[in-house]
Amino acid sequence: MTVATSNKLAPAWSVIVYMATIHILALLALLPSNFSWKAVGVALFLHWLTAGIGITLGFHRLVTHRSFEVPKWLEYVLVFCGTLACQGGPIDWIGLHRIHHKYSDTHPDPHDSNEGFWWSHLGWMLYHIPANQEIPRYTQDIVNDPFYQFCQKYLVPIQVVLGLSLYFLGGWSFVIWGIFVRLVVVFHCTWFVNSATHKFGYQSHESKDNSRNCWWVALVTYGEGWHNNHHAFQYSARHGLQWWEIDITWMTIRFLQLLGLAKNIKLAPITD
Ligand SMILES: [Zn+2]
Ligand SMILES: [Zn+2]
Repeated sequence: MTVATSNKLAPAWSVIVYMATIHILALLALLPSNFSWKAVGVALFLHWLTAGIGITLGFHRLVTHRSFEVPKWLEYVLVFCGTLACQGGPIDWIGLHRIHHKYSDTHPDPHDSNEGFWWSHLGWMLYHIPANQEIPRYTQDIVNDPFYQFCQKYLVPIQVVLGLSLYFLGGWSFVIWGIFVRLVVVFHCTWFVNSATHKFGYQSHESKDNSRNCWWVALVTYGEGWHNNHHAFQYSARHGLQWWEIDITWMTIRFLQLLGLAKNIKLAPITD
């Protein structure tokens, strides 16, 4: 992050303490007594459910970009799964991402990658940035929805209920792996989309920003790493546009379509 940017902004201490606490608690996984393969399995399952189904399919492709339609009950299920990733409430997440696309890699972009890798990865969240004030203007379709307001308001209590459920199912190892390790891994996977895919990889399309297609980010984010394709065709439900650009979330949308649950799917004109 540039010194100039961070110097002008007030630190968001609640976010700093929240992020530091979760990262420190994840270190408990290093104690051999907290390890079990079952707990690792729980973490992997919740990674898929919260990052793949919740954040990527729900928050991003369905709601932020409205690249396809599902019944309202299914939209709420997907948004609830995204809320379990604890990356801020759905209204904030979706609003900030819409602002990112509107101003991509210019000063009003919440995570302008020209400010450096760490700013776009993490730093931007640790300050009171001006984009936060703009969120209501970019979320008119969801800001008054009681279900979105519930997820927004009770983000942390919902996570605590999940943690308690895991404790009763499998003790501390399930909590440490299923909550803290999983949250940290999902955080960084999602943040790589803001940092790494605006820095590393190839550009297939002119998108007037630094967005790149980066295979290893696509692997850990269920297809979100094909980020240059995404910036060029923001409305497209499919991000991997070449045969080698594997996009698990696109496969999931096709599966929902086969079940009759996903309709009016928007697609980029260029596909292999
Ligand atoms: Zn997007
Ligand atoms: Zn981007």
